[in-house]
Amino acid sequence: MKVLIVGSGGREHAIAWSVSRSPKVDKIYCAPGNAGIAEYAQCVNIGAMEFEKLADFAQENQVDLTIIGMDDPLVGGVVDVFESRGLRVFGPRKNAAILEGSKAFSKDLMKKYNIPTAAYENFDDPEKALAYLRTEAKFPIVLKADGLALGKGVLICKDLQEAEDGVKEIMEDKKFGNAGNTMVIEEFMTGREVSVLSFVDGKTIKTMTSAQDHKRAMDGDQGLNTGGMGTFSPSPFYTKEVDEFCQKYVYQPTVDAMAAEGREFKGIIFFGLMLTKDGPKVLEYNARFGDPEAQVVLPRMKNDIVEVMEACIDGTLDQIDLQFEDNAAVCVVLASEGYPVKYEKEIPMYGFENFKDKEGYYCFHAGTKFKDGQIVTNGGRVVGITATGSNLKEARKNAYAATEWITFANKYMRHDIGKAIDEA
Ligand code: ATP
Repeated sequence: MKVLIVGSGGREHAIAWSVSRSPKVDKIYCAPGNAGIAEYAQCVNIGAMEFEKLADFAQENQVDLTIIGMDDPLVGGVVDVFESRGLRVFGPRKNAAILEGSKAFSKDLMKKYNIPTAAYENFDDPEKALAYLRTEAKFPIVLKADGLALGKGVLICKDLQEAEDGVKEIMEDKKFGNAGNTMVIEEFMTGREVSVLSFVDGKTIKTMTSAQDHKRAMDGDQGLNTGGMGTFSPSPFYTKEVDEFCQKYVYQPTVDAMAAEGREFKGIIFFGLMLTKDGPKVLEYNARFGDPEAQVVLPRMKNDIVEVMEACIDGTLDQIDLQFEDNAAVCVVLASEGYPVKYEKEIPMYGFENFKDKEGYYCFHAGTKFKDGQIVTNGGRVVGITATGSNLKEARKNAYAATEWITFANKYMRHDIGKAIDEA
């Protein structure tokens, strides 16, 4: 069969790698793709937000399955466009992708269906938000722009002054555009964070192995928030008890709540959880694979990803036995110095041949392209270096050793990805 993947990051590279292993697949396209994805897929120069062009391409090339990797097209309704043309597509429709697209929606959903999360209030009027902050709020407090903001729309404010500035930034200056028309003000929670991704077919949910992200740019969780500087899987803090609690009170209830609201969810639900002293609570939902989480979870998955995705579309996920290797994986992101603010592009890169035929080592491209036949950098996050190992410590050692195999000027990485492993 022919598969089209929509996106261009490390997540889509990991998906393409996974799809390439499926015996069902004989041709992969990726729009727009990158230099690494080009190893498995024919890259097509169509942007992820060009829904009609993507659907035209799928139709003209008799694509059997399209996989949407990114949040923007999902929230914008790309799945609805494909479905209206009778094309098979993996991902939630617009009315379900709102689970990620609107934090105010997801908070109201959790409240209505008793899914554990931080206490909150939604505001669409800055004056009311300010009045609330001045009279009722406890600090620190968390302000969140309602819509998609590239993972940057969350402000943790230590006092009233910072919170007032935050309201101005989000709701008045519109730093995140229309994403800030509505704002969630949320109780500040403390605890370890863990990500759990899942496949959903509208009624059945099957969770994947857990992972932990590192969002800040610098060692010791210092510096600005980024798209993610590295990750490991599984999380040693995601115990059997935590899993049992979440299966009962978080995962299935979320799927059932969406169905009850007439917003049947098919695709990936990513649960961002915080393990608080009062039990696990939902920090956020995403409606797609995490990036870089996909880069540690997919190499550990035993199933044929295409079979699982087709089961989600067909509503037969209950018949799939989702299985993961009994090993561990660590991903260290190689970025360009200066990310996430200002960095150079088009820097020549070397060493990709070191990954050839090395079982358990992966170089997932995030921001790369070809220039005159040479692979060059094309983004802040450049590649994700993933390695597996029989346990987390071994995987971490292997991943950091492999970070040396790729060289380019201004290469930057965190040196403490997976430090939490030592505290487990
Ligand atoms: P992304 O899509 O990149 O994961 P996002 O913009 O959707 O991010 P959240 O995941 O909701 O934002 O929040 C980003 C980070 O802010 C969280 O990973 C967590 O570290 C912190 N955070 C969010 N909500 C709270 C809270 N209530 N208490 C403490 N920290 C929080």
